[in-house]
Amino acid sequence: MSANPKQALFAEFARIGQALANPARLEILDFLAQSERAVQDLARLCGLSVANTSQHLQTLRAAGLVQTRKQGLHVFYSLAGPAVCQLFRSLRHCGETHLAEVDRIVRAHRSGTPAEAVSLPELRRRLRTGTALLLDVRPREEFAAGHIPGARNIPLAELRSQLRHLPAGVDIIAYCRGPYCFLSDEAVALLSKSGRRALRAGEGFPEWKARGWKVATVVLVLERLWPRRSQPILRQGFFTDLTYLVFNSEYLGVLLGALTLRLPLPTIPPANLMAGLSLPVQFLVLLLVFDFAQWAIHNLLHRVPILWRIHKVHHSIIDMDWIGNWRFHGVEILVYRVLLYPLAALCGFGVEAMFAYGVFNTAIGHFAHSNLNVRLGPLQYLINGPQMHLWHHTHPDAGPVNQNFAISLSLWDWLFRTAYVPAGQAPTLLGFDGIERYPTNILTQTIEPFRPDAP
Ligand SMILES: [Zn+2]
Ligand SMILES: [Zn+2]
Repeated sequence: MSANPKQALFAEFARIGQALANPARLEILDFLAQSERAVQDLARLCGLSVANTSQHLQTLRAAGLVQTRKQGLHVFYSLAGPAVCQLFRSLRHCGETHLAEVDRIVRAHRSGTPAEAVSLPELRRRLRTGTALLLDVRPREEFAAGHIPGARNIPLAELRSQLRHLPAGVDIIAYCRGPYCFLSDEAVALLSKSGRRALRAGEGFPEWKARGWKVATVVLVLERLWPRRSQPILRQGFFTDLTYLVFNSEYLGVLLGALTLRLPLPTIPPANLMAGLSLPVQFLVLLLVFDFAQWAIHNLLHRVPILWRIHKVHHSIIDMDWIGNWRFHGVEILVYRVLLYPLAALCGFGVEAMFAYGVFNTAIGHFAHSNLNVRLGPLQYLINGPQMHLWHHTHPDAGPVNQNFAISLSLWDWLFRTAYVPAGQAPTLLGFDGIERYPTNILTQTIEPFRPDAP
């Protein structure tokens, strides 16, 4: 070891400088800032041979800038941490500030598109007020690995064929991998040519992530430990769903139930079928009969236009997590609760059996809506889970609709051939046509189905 600790330290820092001193390696870092990648992927993206790319990765790894993860026979590379992303951005910023050539190259490339770019704070404001549609033009796998909440993914290669699916009358803001990825410039040029008002976001997904807008005030431990995909806890619509939780969940039901038990209700003897049966049997019958009834009602909610307008509230979730389980229109709650619960009471089901069923139903509902990366294996033929229910929420642009109507038991979907679970895939976009114009708070969402011109 060197006698002078300062020199020894600077020698270590210089290793990082040496690893960065290569344009190909900088480009690799830029791609890794989007998502982890296999060597073959990176080679294709950078236009290098696999052997060459592999060598660059070893250099970056030796300098502690990238790390690897093994999955089966594949090795995936990612940035070693947020500090690497920051280092790369500082380097870029320094070049922009002090190298005249950087400015010249960018100008030459951007000559065809509007110079103005939407800043991140402005982008955030426009998303909140719903005055713009945010378009992510990166490839699907990068979008799936993380994106700005509320964005819609149409990879640049598909943009021309998808133009007619984009809503008219709103500004379209395109973003891609960062300020020097020219995908969004090409998207803006294409959109402008087709008569849309399109703008480019000044920065891309890594910059958004770096701004630290993932405000984690409530730690939802499981979703953090095994997330299906990374998304902020306070994702779009979180507070709306918190309000739904209060009004729609069983908390209100427990209160109403307690009040009802104090009322002298008549029992109708001929209908009092279940009274003599044990708790487990009552629970099983409730589960089978009522879950099937709810599955059938859910089918109707999707297939009858006026009912679909009401059920749309539930499908207006853009980023899925457990609390989305409670986003329902009040009328839908009436249908399920007022129709089914008194009927259950009349049939003579005990309070305990109904309570147990309620708890089971709620638990499966939270599980199916959670952002958990759980595969149920053979159990998926019996019980609803996140993998299946996510496909129920898919946007028509991202997969087939009217599938997976399961509430608690997925059995019915397999029996009636409405099950759809493509192996190892998840939809890249949730919602329905026109979701970008859909109201975002509980009050406006409650009124929406009854507007005379509601779609
Ligand atoms: Zn549905
Ligand atoms: Zn759902």
